Amino acid sequence: MAENNSDNNFYNIFIFDLLIFIFNLLTCIFEFLIFILGLFINMTKGCKKCFQTNVWYYRCNECNAKQFQQDFPNWTSGNEFIDRFIQETQLNVQSNFIVIEWVPYNRFKNIEYHDKGVSGTIYKAI
Ligand SMILES: [Zn+2]
Repeated sequence: MAENNSDNNFYNIFIFDLLIFIFNLLTCIFEFLIFILGLFINMTKGCKKCFQTNVWYYRCNECNAKQFQQDFPNWTSGNEFIDRFIQETQLNVQSNFIVIEWVPYNRFKNIEYHDKGVSGTIYKAI
């Protein structure tokens, strides 16, 4: 039984790290494409918060992470694993464009049934 638990923990940590890795990889690819696009269109240089000039978009990664960290006490998904995953991705934010955020149920409108999957039911909303 004890061995089973440690196997499960290993599996959960592995899945957690894998999800973070995939998320960061996709973000890097997207940022690279935006960077290439930025070479062709004239975008404003510099962070609007700390005025660092070596970033070419709206806010630098450090200022983005600080902003998210200040907001941690104001939300929870009710699931420690999901909270930690979202917080971890927000602290390691690499993008001004791709961010994972917890949206409480009461902020959704027009909730409609979409489909039933293997692990649950899928709804769509605005
Ligand atoms: Zn900054």
